[in-house]
Amino acid sequence: MTTEPDGAAFETRAIHAGQEPDTLTGAVVPPIYQVSTYAQDAVGSHRGYEYSRTANPTRTALERCLASLESADHGLAFASGMAAEDALLRLLRPGDHVVLPSDAYGGTHRLARMYEAAGLVFTVADLAEPGALDRAWRDQTRLVWVETPTNPMLAVADIAAVAAVAHQRSAWCVVDNTFATPFLQRPLELGADAVVHSTTKYLGGHSDVLGGFVAVADPERAEALAFVQNAAGAVPGPLDCFLVLRGVKTLAVRMERHCHNARVVAAMLADHPAVERVLYPGLPGHPGHEVAARQMRDFGGMVSFTLAAGETAAVELVAHTRVFTLAESLGGVESLVEHPARMTHASVAGTPQAVDPSLVRLSVGIEAVDDLVADLRQALDSVSA
Ligand code: PLP
Repeated sequence: MTTEPDGAAFETRAIHAGQEPDTLTGAVVPPIYQVSTYAQDAVGSHRGYEYSRTANPTRTALERCLASLESADHGLAFASGMAAEDALLRLLRPGDHVVLPSDAYGGTHRLARMYEAAGLVFTVADLAEPGALDRAWRDQTRLVWVETPTNPMLAVADIAAVAAVAHQRSAWCVVDNTFATPFLQRPLELGADAVVHSTTKYLGGHSDVLGGFVAVADPERAEALAFVQNAAGAVPGPLDCFLVLRGVKTLAVRMERHCHNARVVAAMLADHPAVERVLYPGLPGHPGHEVAARQMRDFGGMVSFTLAAGETAAVELVAHTRVFTLAESLGGVESLVEHPARMTHASVAGTPQAVDPSLVRLSVGIEAVDDLVADLRQALDSVSA
């Protein structure tokens, strides 16, 4: 396959989009163009590349591939998920108002605090609740930020409904699609204007790289973002682009296994006496189950739960797993466990967005599911004993 297979299935595009064999050597994967500058034939006459902050061929391959997977015409890669989020917020002006989900990733709230100092105004709303967006709305609202499912509460927002309200009122709707990935959910197809990712997570998939990505449909917004990408310079290096591109090739098969394992783990937790509440959109009792079933292909690999015995038990449990590694981050092939209140979401401690301290978050990996279930059982038993 030598051309971008636009009409091809997701799995095929994940392997081929933006990745024609190298014209010089025939290399079947895009080489790591570890280079900062490019020879010009004459002043202003070059082959599309001048300087690697502006564009780099390995990055171009990644941007084309991820844009294709998100059904977007344009995609821009960044040095981290936060750099991608930052690029989007830079498109706003002092006085503009942004609605943020109450349960967005803690770093998104931290970034909002930085932009408050620059004159943006934020209102936090529970976007899983119909009506919350109306109450949060102001005349100056320019952007609605959606994260679904959310980190770490796995709340689900109806992307099509939020995007429709935003568009009626001339605002734009951005979706953080990190938890779902484009294999499970494609926000632009549901009406969103932009998608943001931490490619550090499922897209990279192997806990060996940091990266971010923004996909947009509108060419003017794409141009504005490309300006920010070049002007501010928070770009990923070519090796990082290569690693994400390699990870994406197996995204579909990995996600199928993540979803299967998470479903089995969630069912076991729901039956365990030490567990108070399981938060997994795949469980029929989850408040967002129906919306998730409508807008997602499957329910993802993230599972959170609270322990009946509270915070001390939660902190103890995360130290007792053997297959699940106690670590921040998510979306890699290996299973991770963490205590959000003291780890990933410590930045919102003491604020209205503070996380329930009895909550434990799992990134369910693709190991044999029986080993995962046995590991959680022994950890739960050791805590409840
Ligand atoms: N969005 C979500 C949902 C996340 O979970 C994270 C990180 O955990 C980010 C954005 C930020 O990404 P990064 O750590 O790559 O900067």
